[in-house]
Amino acid sequence: MNINSNIKPNVESKVVPSSSWSTDEAEKTYQVQRWGNGYFEIGEQGNINVIPRYDQPELKLDLREIIDEMAEAGIEFPAVIRFHDILKSQIERLNLTFQTTIKAAGYQGQYFGVFPVKVNQMREVIEEVISIGEHFNYGLEAGSKPELIAALAYNTNKNSLTVLNGYKDEEYLRLALLGTKINRNIIIVIEKYSELIKLVELVKKLHIKPIIGLRAKMMVKGRGKWESSGGERAKFGLGIAEILNAIALLKQENMLECVQLLHFHIGSQLTDIRSIKEAVQEASLIYAKLVKDGVPLRYIDVGGGLAVDYDGTQSTNDSSCNYNLEEYIADIVYGFKQNCDLENVAHPHIVSESGRAMTAHHSCVITKVIGEIHPSGNCYKTASMPNEHILVTNIRDIQETLDDDNYQEAYNDIAVIKEQAMNAFKLGILSLDELAKVETLYWQILNEIAILAKHHDFIPDELAEIPNLLSSQYLANFSVFQSAADSWAIDQVLPIVPISRLNEKPTKLCSLVDITCDSDGKIDHFIGGKNVLPLHQLQADEDYYIGLFLTGAYQDVMGDMHNLFGRLNEVHIVSHDDDPKDFYIEEVVKGSSVENVLSTMQYTPQILAQVIKKEIDKQIKQGKVNPREGGALIDFYENCLAGYTYLKS
Ligand SMILES: *Cc1c(COP(=O)(O)O)cnc(C)c1O
Repeated sequence: MNINSNIKPNVESKVVPSSSWSTDEAEKTYQVQRWGNGYFEIGEQGNINVIPRYDQPELKLDLREIIDEMAEAGIEFPAVIRFHDILKSQIERLNLTFQTTIKAAGYQGQYFGVFPVKVNQMREVIEEVISIGEHFNYGLEAGSKPELIAALAYNTNKNSLTVLNGYKDEEYLRLALLGTKINRNIIIVIEKYSELIKLVELVKKLHIKPIIGLRAKMMVKGRGKWESSGGERAKFGLGIAEILNAIALLKQENMLECVQLLHFHIGSQLTDIRSIKEAVQEASLIYAKLVKDGVPLRYIDVGGGLAVDYDGTQSTNDSSCNYNLEEYIADIVYGFKQNCDLENVAHPHIVSESGRAMTAHHSCVITKVIGEIHPSGNCYKTASMPNEHILVTNIRDIQETLDDDNYQEAYNDIAVIKEQAMNAFKLGILSLDELAKVETLYWQILNEIAILAKHHDFIPDELAEIPNLLSSQYLANFSVFQSAADSWAIDQVLPIVPISRLNEKPTKLCSLVDITCDSDGKIDHFIGGKNVLPLHQLQADEDYYIGLFLTGAYQDVMGDMHNLFGRLNEVHIVSHDDDPKDFYIEEVVKGSSVENVLSTMQYTPQILAQVIKKEIDKQIKQGKVNPREGGALIDFYENCLAGYTYLKS
């Protein structure tokens, strides 16, 4: 489906900005420029702007306009929006920065990047990578047989590399050799000594000379979540002794000239530039010594790990990094140059396998907030009654005498009373009615304490928790397990921002809960180390959209169908070449239907529909349902089967 539109971004804003709040305040709250990497900003109109081309800063798309356009086209939310221009920009930036750094350094080798398929296997992403990459001889990295099968068909550029990592059986190796046979620059990276023995046998049988890479098990460990990818207990790679044995074996088999690449990968999301410097130091020395020993290496593959600053702190937080692309590349190029010069060996071609940093920025998840869950819930009448329990009287007294001088004491007292009331109820001493009163008064007093505490410069630690206790949960139409898997699995911080009303002060502190029936289906880690996110009061007449940003790497494809919530609807946004202020929806990829997700769990949707039809027919025969109503019920069931898995809102 192709939908073209002529909507101009940056139309005048609908909301009158309040005087005490400006989009600068919003920037301080949501830190969009800090994590946006130049691709996102808060526009003066109070909406998020997307700046999809790094080399065209004047090209700005209003995200709210895109969303309205999607809604008009009948696309249901939640939905993924992909900006192919951002993906292109990132790939260009990586390649161009390597090229300019290599030139500036007087480095003799060239850069041959490869995109690791596992980071985002979507065909649309791989097609874009290959298409934009052709200009730079940018290739693919595969880590499994299925990825290799896709890479063989897609990486048709004869000048780029296809690097093969991951454990390999004979079939994997045969597929690799098939690639060599059709003139692809396949590099088989040996992760494990036994793979080499299998490969040597196959090569003898098939008479094909492969290009072989050796993955070194590095001493240096990356810092961050994935630090166990490096170090002597790493799962992959050959120790120094194994490398020397491998070389001896290849020499003996007359295959030494096949060994052209030395590989290392010390982990993903490397938060500290020091681990990169150390890895370059270690690898360049291994490289130089091997070359001096007569191994005909020509490529050094520095693996992945280039991090994304999800929380915008430029720190060694797990969701951040203390360096940028330029520094990362300079450390690699100058590091290898220096050590190779010292050791008097030629500079190798540089291969890198950055995945996360290429794709993270290009997609975001847009969901609508559909409700609010407040801990104090509904209020209950609290007027005093004759002979009421003393706990009720006591907590009411606290409310009546609450003031600036006693609010901390009051906080402690009501906590005790609430607990005692619960115990008294369990012992049958307190009635349900009385328990409801204590609960209502407790939340009322907590609210009042929070207001009193705000006027004081010093807030005791104990009371600092109150805003969290009082925070609302905003119920958003999405599944954490499908759309923000890393937030659930590894506490990854994702930037989450309302799409509009950013020129209006957010007055609620909220955490987010999803629509799964799982108490883990929530997000309560936000940038700035906060457990709550400032959001706006919901309005009955206006949709409130929020965006989960930087979701394009890993989470995009690792989603799980928890509760049978399936893949999201997706649109690909492209900016017009001839009118840089304009955009169009290039492609709509429909998300999973209920039928789709049920089928993957081995149900047959037709059979389900037949069962329901039979039951309804029975009711019709018995005269309990009239035929027209029965027909409508059957249609309804079938329409739901064909429909979207998320809530209609
Ligand atoms: C996962 C992986 C990558 C990609 O790492 P990023 O941190 O996403 O850049 C590269 N190489 C290998 C061997 C990997 O396993």
